[in-house]
Amino acid sequence: MLSWPLTVNRILEHAERWHGNREVISVGADGGIVRKTYAQCADRARRLSAALSDRGVRTGDRVATLAWNTGEHFEAWYAIMCIGAVCHTLNPRMDAPNLTRIAEHAGTRLLLVDPSLLPLAQAMHAACPTIEEIWVLGHSGDRTLNATDALIGEQQPAAWGGFGEEQAAGLCYTSGTAGDPKGVLYSHRANFLHTLMVIQPDVFGLRAIDTVLPIVPMFHANAWGLVFAAPAVGAKLVLPGRHLDGASLLRLIGEEKVSIAAAVPTVWQGLVDHADANGETLGPLARAVVGGAACLPSLLRRLADEHDLDVRHAWGMTEMSPLGTISAPTADTLALPEEARRAVEGAQGRPPLGVELRVETAGTPGSDAAGKLKIRGFAMIERYYGDSAPAGDDGGWFDTGDVARIDAHGFMHITDREKDVVKSGGEWISSQELEALAAEHCDVVHAAVVAADSKQWGERPLLIVQLLPGACCSDEDLLAQIAGSVPRWWLPDAVVRVDAMPLGLTGKIDKRALRDTYRDHLGSGA
Ligand code: AMP
Repeated sequence: MLSWPLTVNRILEHAERWHGNREVISVGADGGIVRKTYAQCADRARRLSAALSDRGVRTGDRVATLAWNTGEHFEAWYAIMCIGAVCHTLNPRMDAPNLTRIAEHAGTRLLLVDPSLLPLAQAMHAACPTIEEIWVLGHSGDRTLNATDALIGEQQPAAWGGFGEEQAAGLCYTSGTAGDPKGVLYSHRANFLHTLMVIQPDVFGLRAIDTVLPIVPMFHANAWGLVFAAPAVGAKLVLPGRHLDGASLLRLIGEEKVSIAAAVPTVWQGLVDHADANGETLGPLARAVVGGAACLPSLLRRLADEHDLDVRHAWGMTEMSPLGTISAPTADTLALPEEARRAVEGAQGRPPLGVELRVETAGTPGSDAAGKLKIRGFAMIERYYGDSAPAGDDGGWFDTGDVARIDAHGFMHITDREKDVVKSGGEWISSQELEALAAEHCDVVHAAVVAADSKQWGERPLLIVQLLPGACCSDEDLLAQIAGSVPRWWLPDAVVRVDAMPLGLTGKIDKRALRDTYRDHLGSGA
């Protein structure tokens, strides 16, 4: 067969040639909508590539973006990758010292920044020796700054491609707040094949007639691949900008006729809470991709039953590009009675072709007991950026740090994060199972279970809840919701109420912060 490198420039070239008039919608800082087409975005991206080359950016150089999901970010992403440079996405919710540490570790040369984030970029520039220049995405009111609109105005479109499929395309750091920064370098080949994987019917199921809203940020593991997948099929792409509250998203979904959206559970919760409080529906939305953190069964049911959505619960990691598993019905599960079917399909699901996973249990192989979850595949990490040691074992198996079991239907259920498991008297208690049960209580908005130190047992579970405003249920009521469904010794020792759950940098409940705050909550006598 012809040698045809799987490089991501081919994705936007395909969209430009065959879906050139399909729209890319972007919400600006003022809430205004900017409309372009794939053909226009590709032209602007090619001219931005030319500007980058003129500035001396070469194959393999790291160029960072510090931006929300916008049209300019979309163009920059392709402009960088399609000339063989590496698009290093940075999370604007991090502070300048941590971002600087990451940019320095990556050896990032240029920093492309959303105008609203300029002060943060300038603080990084002042502190990071590798950053040579800042370019503002779009236009800037300040003539002393380089802005991409002005830079591309003078350029002819650059030629794309001409490098191998193993060339690095993107770089994303898993965490920048503790320990050493860990960068994941994505190859063109991995991104291309991951795109083919996620557009399949039983994965995200994207078609040319869809309108796709990646609420998950482009700096969170490639927006789960949607910024490649939408142009790959010619779907309309809606980029929501900075404001991800329920009201803003609901308006966007209605006005742009969004059919598929993807976000972490806390964002979905905000969206349905807003819709329900205002007696609104999710309008044209047909499919919800929920992932990045365990989704409570109560939220999955609300989305499916009350809002009539086809809900896909997905699990993945930055290290996996990021998709690992996704829940979609199989012939087996369709034949199950309603409740049993829900219990299976509410899990994190099954791996698509190209993802291998296994659960290492202490007991009998093949049993559905929980154990360490390990993965490998074509879009999985081999080693962290800059590390010489492989990230996985001799066979390439990468330890995810998650605990999981696989049921009789081949659906994987994440039972916990290894760090979040409560180890009481030497036995494991699943924090996620307790959270799911507590969240069934009608007054509970968010529930989190963390380990508190116990003199007698080592650790005991503590239930932390955010209740609906004005709710006055007792601790006994909340615990009664759990009792009966789990062994007695699993029952949390105490309940803590918080006004608002702390959220981490990617919008997930920050269990590390909760653990640090409440570790001593039971006192030394417990
Ligand atoms: P990140 O790389 O930031 O996306 O985080 C990956 C981690 O998020 C995984 O190792 C899991 O612990 C967690 N995670 C992602 N998706 C899910 C899910 N659907 N259910 C439970 N945990 C999840």
